[in-house]
Amino acid sequence: MDDSYDVIVIGAGFAGLTAARELSLRGRSVVVLEARDRIGGRTWTDVRFGRPLEMGGTWVHWLQPHTWSEITRYGLDVEPSPGSEEVYWIAGGQVHKGTPAEFDALIERGMDRLAEDSREFFEMPYEPLRHRGLDAIDHESVVDYFGRLDLDPTEREVTTGVWAEHFNAPAEVSGLAQAMRWCAAASGDWRLLHEATSGYRLGTGTAALASAMAEDGDAEFRLRTVVTAVRQEDGRATATTADGKRYTARRIVCTLPLNVLGSIDFQPGLPAAKLAASAERTASQGLKTWIRVRGHIAPFTAYAPDDHALTFVRPEYTVDGDTVLVAFGTRASDLDPTDADGVARALRCWRDDLEVVDVTGHDWMRDTFSRETWPMQRPGQLTRYLAALREPHGGVHFAGSDIAGGWAGFIDGAIESGLHAARHVETALRTG
Ligand SMILES: Cc1cc2nc3c(=O)[nH]c(=O)nc-3n(C[C@H](O)[C@H](O)[C@H](O)COP(=O)(O)OP(=O)(O)OC[C@H]3O[C@@H](n4cnc5c(N)ncnc54)[C@H](O)[C@@H]3O)c2cc1C
Repeated sequence: MDDSYDVIVIGAGFAGLTAARELSLRGRSVVVLEARDRIGGRTWTDVRFGRPLEMGGTWVHWLQPHTWSEITRYGLDVEPSPGSEEVYWIAGGQVHKGTPAEFDALIERGMDRLAEDSREFFEMPYEPLRHRGLDAIDHESVVDYFGRLDLDPTEREVTTGVWAEHFNAPAEVSGLAQAMRWCAAASGDWRLLHEATSGYRLGTGTAALASAMAEDGDAEFRLRTVVTAVRQEDGRATATTADGKRYTARRIVCTLPLNVLGSIDFQPGLPAAKLAASAERTASQGLKTWIRVRGHIAPFTAYAPDDHALTFVRPEYTVDGDTVLVAFGTRASDLDPTDADGVARALRCWRDDLEVVDVTGHDWMRDTFSRETWPMQRPGQLTRYLAALREPHGGVHFAGSDIAGGWAGFIDGAIESGLHAARHVETALRTG
């Protein structure tokens, strides 16, 4: 006998948690099939170095309306990340050091121009396909864009490097349109964008928000349940799992990260555009690592161009007198986030006075259930694929931060898309 429901949700990341809660609170029978042994997807609060650390998504902001609404709903604490007293950057192969104001002055001209242009193309950030002239910019990368602005070589190199860091990807595959979408979501204010993307974190971790959402609804959760196939016939959809079990429902909400969408065998098969987008992969291909260094380190931030193994680092916490740094790099293929020697070598591009005690992290690129970090588009992917990726496939609806409207790539985008999917599914169930 198959287990039968109104709705099957595939994936218990924030998109799946949102859709499952919304539909179950409307009285629908919902089962969530999640491959991992935990909920939260690409957010994961785990105890490392003796304290909770975020392996994935971390920062939240009141500028991200869907996330903030959930924070209000569950009464969660938000705390600031430490600020910076000094900034290191690399330009022309040399390390430079200055105040945050000096660094901002270096990127200001490029960022101001990008932010200004973003308002033209993405005046309504939650409707990213609204502007009719997107073809004019969507084929460009951030390298193309900053290359054609009137910037001096240092400004160009540093500003392009900042965007590679934002994309968690090499700059040449980082799509200009997506960079503009980030700026537009922050209403064209790039300083506010920086605050919104790395200024504030959940005091009790992203896990607290995920748990609150899961407990609020009435959905059943099946963990360690890998969906391998989805069949649709006679108005019902069946999900088959790796252990051979079958679940049927009138509707399915599929929240798989784009890069693993092709891992499920859909019958009838997915349209060519969805498969092409999944095969082409997102731009993001980087890493996040946590580095414990000996003793107290004064707050700093460091940036490097994308030909360095790490492109960003800054202190986040202290543990037993040591400092815990968070760092990012644009190529997980070049640096394992748990390789202490490799990470220590990479850190030395800025400073050789830091003694690395330990490193930890999670390799999302090698993770079978993500194969990407935060979803970011390559040049051309917005206009080629976004509309097609959002289309339902018969009774299967799609959600996820990869296909969100506003803060695509963020927790906010996952929640936004989960709300859209729940609304469409509820309408279909009522009228179908
Ligand atoms: C390193 C890193 C740092 C980030 N930093 C931030 C940040 O600071 N702020 C922010 O807002 N966002 C950040 N993000 C992005 C944010 O975490 C994601 O955009 C968001 O969590 C994605 O949610 P989702 O539900 O769309 O996808 P996911 O969270 O990926 O959920 C999809 C779920 O589907 C499951 N799944 C996959 N295959 C199968 C299968 N075959 N069967 C069943 N289940 C399956 C997966 O296990 C997963 O749980 C970061 C992400 C990463 C990786």
